[in-house]
Amino acid sequence: MRIALFDDYRVGVVEAGERLRDISDAIPDRTPAWPWPWVPRLIAAFSELRPQLEKAAAQAEPRAIDGVRLLPPTPWPGQIVAAAANYHEHAAEMAARPGHNPNEGLQGEIFLKAPASVVGHNAAVTLPNLPGREIHHEAELGVIIGRRMYQVAAVDALDFVFGYTCLMDLTVRGRGDRSRRKSYAGFTPLGPWLVTSEEVPDPQTLAVRLWCNGEIRQDGTTRDMVYSVAEMLAYASAVMPLYPGDVLASGTPSGVGPIQGGDHIEMELGGIGRLAVDILAAPPGAPLAEVGLGVRPKSRDSGC
Ligand code: MN
Repeated sequence: MRIALFDDYRVGVVEAGERLRDISDAIPDRTPAWPWPWVPRLIAAFSELRPQLEKAAAQAEPRAIDGVRLLPPTPWPGQIVAAAANYHEHAAEMAARPGHNPNEGLQGEIFLKAPASVVGHNAAVTLPNLPGREIHHEAELGVIIGRRMYQVAAVDALDFVFGYTCLMDLTVRGRGDRSRRKSYAGFTPLGPWLVTSEEVPDPQTLAVRLWCNGEIRQDGTTRDMVYSVAEMLAYASAVMPLYPGDVLASGTPSGVGPIQGGDHIEMELGGIGRLAVDILAAPPGAPLAEVGLGVRPKSRDSGC
């Protein structure tokens, strides 16, 4: 089943990638108001609700998907856990960069992206004002959790997955903590919809492609992951409980590169969908998007 959120947080079932049937009236407690707690509850209760959702879809008139504004399929995830350097060829390209930051290549490690960095299909992403810094695209398989999972072994982990979606992990390269460099507003485009897990029997066989202004930049496959989705979920859930609607960004294949204002970025995950965003430059006079903190001298001890 392909599920989209659209317009004022309505819910639709997507058919053939071009039509959508509005099932909003069958969703318990649905409201357009932030922070949309009914979305993780819908995911958690999905198998019980499924018969009535399918019935609602069968009764709804199909409408063209071009006529709606698509929203992130999990618009306010509790957590976004992301895999670092999780494709063999991408790890190699990062290690080969001049001035390589070893913090960018901690293979087999996870970090967090801010949930508030999520945007949907066709969003306009305004870049932060960071003179001299490169900002890159990373096309990824996004994994949406379906049931609370804590300390789950890899062999069981995929049973806890609700579905999959396209995810871009936009990233400021260079110095600084990864979680901060990847958490600016708009830095986690998700969509255009989610595909429930029974339609993706093996998440390790998907093509991952990304185009910048029509030119292909990334052309990989999830087969190249260093650690599988199941292994990354086991690793993350060994530490923090994962909840319905949480997201795993599972890493990016090689071919990452800089983006700038005016760029149109599209990515495609085999069989799942195609996600597009437009990149806008920081407006003139925008404040610097990085505030120096560093190590505070001891003489300024606040006494706390
Ligand atoms: Mn990434």
